[in-house]
Amino acid sequence: MDTLQTFRLSGIAFPKNANSMLDEICEHFVEHSDVQRSEGAVLLKSDIGTADIKLVDQRLVIDLACPTEETLHLSRNMIAEHLFYFANGEPLELSWIDATTVSRLPNLHEVTVVSAEDVTPRMRRVKVACDDVTPFIGSDVHVRVLIPPKGRPPAWPGLGDDGRIAWPKGEDEIIARVYTIRAVEREKRELWIDFLQHPAPGVKTPGADFARDAQPGEKIALIGPGGSLPKADQLLLAGDEAALPAIARIAAEAPAGARIRAIIEVEDETEQQPLPSGASLEVHWLHRKTSVEGKPGSFKDKVKSAIANNEPGTYTWVACEKSDAREIRSFLKMRGHDRKSQCVAWYWERGKASQ
Ligand SMILES: Cc1cc2nc3c(=O)[nH]c(=O)nc-3n(C[C@H](O)[C@H](O)[C@H](O)COP(=O)(O)OP(=O)(O)OC[C@H]3O[C@@H](n4cnc5c(N)ncnc54)[C@H](O)[C@@H]3O)c2cc1C
Repeated sequence: MDTLQTFRLSGIAFPKNANSMLDEICEHFVEHSDVQRSEGAVLLKSDIGTADIKLVDQRLVIDLACPTEETLHLSRNMIAEHLFYFANGEPLELSWIDATTVSRLPNLHEVTVVSAEDVTPRMRRVKVACDDVTPFIGSDVHVRVLIPPKGRPPAWPGLGDDGRIAWPKGEDEIIARVYTIRAVEREKRELWIDFLQHPAPGVKTPGADFARDAQPGEKIALIGPGGSLPKADQLLLAGDEAALPAIARIAAEAPAGARIRAIIEVEDETEQQPLPSGASLEVHWLHRKTSVEGKPGSFKDKVKSAIANNEPGTYTWVACEKSDAREIRSFLKMRGHDRKSQCVAWYWERGKASQ
């Protein structure tokens, strides 16, 4: 595989604390790619190539090797976005040697709204037409939905010098929110995205509002897809409405013979959806309206108790609100759960807008 990685790029990062950033890289990527840690270095291997990151004099020296120019741009962007995320507002300088200019992201797909309809009272499905749906067939399911300002031709982003996305500013400013491709209709060349309607009095909800008002012919863009579905014969899935589209897709694509238990928290029974699957699927629906926080019936407690009863070899996949995700992650850590058999993600944060 390495001999095919002919597209290369090097970069240097000066974080405030290079050592702890290296730790963060390992800690984060272990659930997403093959991570090989050695003294003062880490090698990340994924489908889009390798990233060799070495600690040298309190700097991180980064060498990327990828099979195509497109995957090289994607690797650079992925590393850059994560390093700035780990820096968490602390000073970070990141530069790349002889990187080519990228005026439009290689994995950006302009799409056109075809229809919008309510699946349940709080879930609105927007179908979009996409010239090439092939990148969306497979295990990568998440996208950033880019919503341009109304009444202006959209200006789509490229990559900045540091490798992060260079977002259009001023009147061209775009809103970006992360969603799941719920289904791909290959013949029609359409993608489905389910948007939870979660009105918050006095607060803007641009992602939800877009879906509420979406009109046929409207142009938006999708960056991605990324974030693979779990592959295992035995799965425990847990999440709330924001995770329901991903759970539905995992169930729909699971092979016959797989065994899935799912715990899904929704507002009430009108929010339950049929989840067709070729696998053996057992769904436990929880209704937020009638559950009591901290009592045994609540989402976190149900998930923890299901984890405690996991059969050996079960892959645990959880996506929910940030504090719940953190608690469930700590619970898995406390039990010494194998990190390669789990994915715990937070899909939204109470009281805080996504960016
Ligand atoms: C990998 C991934 C996949 C996702 N897939 C989907 C998906 O397919 N469908 C989907 O609906 N969401 C999905 N989400 C969650 C979605 O990105 C967030 O809910 C996002 O905040 C919605 O943006 P917004 O503009 O509507 O609200 P924001 O502007 O981000 O937030 C405004 C307010 O609403 C609150 N809020 C945000 N989300 C929720 C929620 N789910 N429930 C209650 N309050 C909320 C915030 O706390 C904030 O106070 C996904 C997130 C991730 C990371």
